[in-house]
Amino acid sequence: MAKLLDKQRYKCALGAMQTVQAIERALPVLHSGPGCAQKLSESTGSSGYFSPNIFPCTSINEKDVVFGGVKKLRSTIDNALKVVDADLYVVLTGCIPEIVGDDSGEVVSEFADADKPVIYAPTAGFKGNNYKGHEQVIDAIIDQYLKKSDKKEKGLVNIWADVPYQDLFWLGNLRELENLVRELGLTPNTIFGYKRGIENIKKIPEAEFNLLISPWVGLSNVKKMEKKFGTPYLHLKTLPVGATETSKFLREVGKFAGVEEEKVEAVIKEHEDYYYYLIERYADLFLENRVINKQFTIVADALYTLGLTKFLVNDLGLVPATQFVVDDTPQKYREEITEEFKKLNFGIEANVSFETDGYKIHEEIKSHDYHGYPLVLGGYYEKEVTESLKGNFLNISWPVQDKVVFDRSYVGYSGGIRLIEDIYTIAVQRFN
Ligand code: SF4
Repeated sequence: MAKLLDKQRYKCALGAMQTVQAIERALPVLHSGPGCAQKLSESTGSSGYFSPNIFPCTSINEKDVVFGGVKKLRSTIDNALKVVDADLYVVLTGCIPEIVGDDSGEVVSEFADADKPVIYAPTAGFKGNNYKGHEQVIDAIIDQYLKKSDKKEKGLVNIWADVPYQDLFWLGNLRELENLVRELGLTPNTIFGYKRGIENIKKIPEAEFNLLISPWVGLSNVKKMEKKFGTPYLHLKTLPVGATETSKFLREVGKFAGVEEEKVEAVIKEHEDYYYYLIERYADLFLENRVINKQFTIVADALYTLGLTKFLVNDLGLVPATQFVVDDTPQKYREEITEEFKKLNFGIEANVSFETDGYKIHEEIKSHDYHGYPLVLGGYYEKEVTESLKGNFLNISWPVQDKVVFDRSYVGYSGGIRLIEDIYTIAVQRFN
């Protein structure tokens, strides 16, 4: 029987055009119907050198469904190479060409000798959501562009974490992860955002290891790189937010990379001293406001739900109600992720629900006894239900509609402080 999905939090796999867009001077070339890019584009922070409004698109129609759209794809790639000055052209296929059986890979292979690289990722909507599409784009780069390198650069670390644009804080988060890794004396390598792009992509096979910070997105990519380039990987499931998890993060990365323990501890001490100095200054505020935020719920993808749950329990001492993971996490990862929600300080365990239906999530939030005002960190969809319960709401996950985010971050020691600021800024307004 057909089901209705209320308040979906992700897009189809073709939404990975945003992953491509986040790579400086990389151009998505869409082999899809004319409406796909329009529906999938975000208006927040996605204008610039290339924006969804100018992505070349085959705009296939009924005639192409009958006779095939490969001719159009060939001419669209050809013309994109002529008129759009990019470093990397990534053909992304939508539902229609894949349903009618266009061999897009074959067409793309005809451009193997073009001046600029042209690669292809199958991102039909029926194949999965944009988290899977993101993995497909990285796979396409690994399979079709990169080659194994005999040269390995000591201390070079590829960092993989956020899905750009799906998380509005992606840019700041990646920069902060770079900063933390750099402080350990390592050299971070990321491919998204300002002054990264194709030159950093070329360095991927030369890295000493891949660092994946994500419960599941990207795991297949780092495994593929291990196989193809012989690059080992360190998989950390928790996004480090606040002192507890960031110190753990630094220790684990330092150990994996063979960084001297004293050096790691010195970095941690300097950060923790300042972090707790700031916390101490507002200790009274936390104590006075504790009762209004006794229990909390996060509604976000696995990366944020896990990372923020650990932060709110371990650093702020709050008690978790049910936490909702809304990214349609594949079944095979769910058990391990569920176990992570049991690894909280003070013997606390959080109940986690992998639920994509907004209606069911809201019904559960409404029926739970939060022993006071709930604190809900989620998508804009949760604003109304939280307000109906007189709770405190912070919009941290897609869709984000009440703030503009340039390069703010919730990662690291400073990110934890920003998140505390945001939560308590809302809490103190109760008394105005
Ligand atoms: S689901 Fe298919 S038709 Fe719809 S936007 Fe995605 S690729 Fe296009």
